[in-house]
Amino acid sequence: MKFAQNRLYIEAYNKCPNCGLLLYEEPSGGVSGAVTFEGRLFCSPWCVNWTVDRRRRRAAEAAVPASTSPDPARA
Ligand SMILES: [Zn+2]
Repeated sequence: MKFAQNRLYIEAYNKCPNCGLLLYEEPSGGVSGAVTFEGRLFCSPWCVNWTVDRRRRRAAEAAVPASTSPDPARA
C-alpha cells in the first residue's frame, strides 16, 4: 500500500507489462520516460521495444518451423 506525495491514497496505479515496474501517478503528468503503447503504459521505450521484439520472435517461431530463408515474404 502506497501513499501519494499529496498524502492521498492511490486508488490505481499502472504496472509495466514488461518488467513489472510500478508506475504511480505524478503531479508532473506521469513517471518520466513512461510510454503508452497499444493502450498500456510501459516504464520506458526500452520495455516497449523488448515487448515488440519478443512478439516478433514468437511469431517467427510459430510461422516457419525450418526454412533456409529467415523472411522470404519481405523480399
Ligand atoms: Zn518496464
